[in-house]
Amino acid sequence: MTYVITEPCIGVKDRACVDVCPVDCIYEGEDQLYINADECIDCGACEPECPVTAIFPEEDVPPQYTAFISKNVEVFEGDNPPGRPDR
Ligand code: SF4
Repeated sequence: MTYVITEPCIGVKDRACVDVCPVDCIYEGEDQLYINADECIDCGACEPECPVTAIFPEEDVPPQYTAFISKNVEVFEGDNPPGRPDR
């Protein structure tokens, strides 16, 4: 299980979640922030910090955002994976 960052993050990238993640597994892509599912320890600290309610536990992602579950995984497998957040 992991947490997933969804559509409300696009164009916002508030980064409040980055500050509270104990394992630094939140990365920055061009359009939004992403959680690396292999590194996330499922602590839940990031979820309440998001000002636009973009973060959900994988099993609680709202129906309109379920495409973001695979997007969060596949983005790390591409040629241009998300990097350390720009702060
Ligand atoms: Fe980081 Fe915890 Fe959020 Fe996973 S659930 S991204 S470990 S703060």
